[in-house]
Amino acid sequence: MPDRKCDDNANFGFAELVSALQQQCDAGIDVALDDIASAGPPEAIVEMSASPPDSTRPVPAPVQQAESLSACDTLDSLKHALETFDGCALKKTASNLVFADGNPDAELMIIGEAPGGDEDRMGLPFVGAAGQLLDKMLLSVGLRRTEVYITNILPWRPPGNRTPSTEEMQMLKPFLMRHIELKQPKLILALGGSSAKLLLDSTTGIMKLRGQIKTISTPNGQAFTVLPSLHPAYLLRAPAMKKLSYQDLLQLKSLLSATV
Ligand code: URA
Repeated sequence: MPDRKCDDNANFGFAELVSALQQQCDAGIDVALDDIASAGPPEAIVEMSASPPDSTRPVPAPVQQAESLSACDTLDSLKHALETFDGCALKKTASNLVFADGNPDAELMIIGEAPGGDEDRMGLPFVGAAGQLLDKMLLSVGLRRTEVYITNILPWRPPGNRTPSTEEMQMLKPFLMRHIELKQPKLILALGGSSAKLLLDSTTGIMKLRGQIKTISTPNGQAFTVLPSLHPAYLLRAPAMKKLSYQDLLQLKSLLSATV
C-alpha cells in the first residue's frame, strides 16, 4: 500500500507518523503537548527572552494572580482563582482541576505531588492506586479519609505523569501557600520529595527529611508544622519502606493528639 501523506506533515509518510505516535504513547505521552505551527519563528522566541526587563511592561499574568491571592478569603474563592488562572500550561492538557478532597475542617492537611490519570479523570486527589494505599495507611492509625483534608502541589496532571518541573512548582506555590493559610491545619503531612522540598524550601532528599518535624511560615507570617514522609506511589514500588512510613504515621498520630 502506498504511504498516505498527511497535509501538515508532507515530508513524512503515514507509516512514519504512526510509528512516531506509537513511540510517544510508549513514553507515556498521552495528550497533545504543543502545536508547532503556533510557536512562531525561533527568532521571536530568542528576542523575547533576550530583551532586558522593562518596568513599563505589563506584569505577566501569573505574577498578577499570585499577588492578588490574599484577596481569596475562602477555599471556594481560591478554587475559583485556580479555575481562572491561565498562567500554567498544564491546565491546557489536563481534563480537570484537582483542588482538594476530604474534610475542610480536618486538623490534618495532606499535600502530595500532582494528580495522575485517575485523579485527572475524577477531579479528586489520591483516588488511584497510590490513593488506595494512602487510605489504608491512614486507617492504620485510625484516620478515615473523611477526617483529613487532601491536596497536591499541582492542581493539574502533568502530561504522561511526568515529574513536575521546578518552574511549574514555583509558579503554583503561592496558591498552595494561600491554600494552607485558608485551611489552617494543625499539621501538614508532606508526601514525597517534591512536596517536602517545596514546602521546606530544601534540597535535602526525602529519605533524610522524613520523620523530622519542621515549621514553615506562609506569606502572611503564620507558622505551620510540617511532617515529611514517603509518598504512597513510592511505597507501591518499594514495599520494604512501609515500616518507615508507619513510624512517621505513628508520629503524626501523636502530634495530632497533642494539645498545643
Ligand atoms: N500522587 C499524588 O501525589 N497525588 C495524587 O493526587 C495522586 C497520586
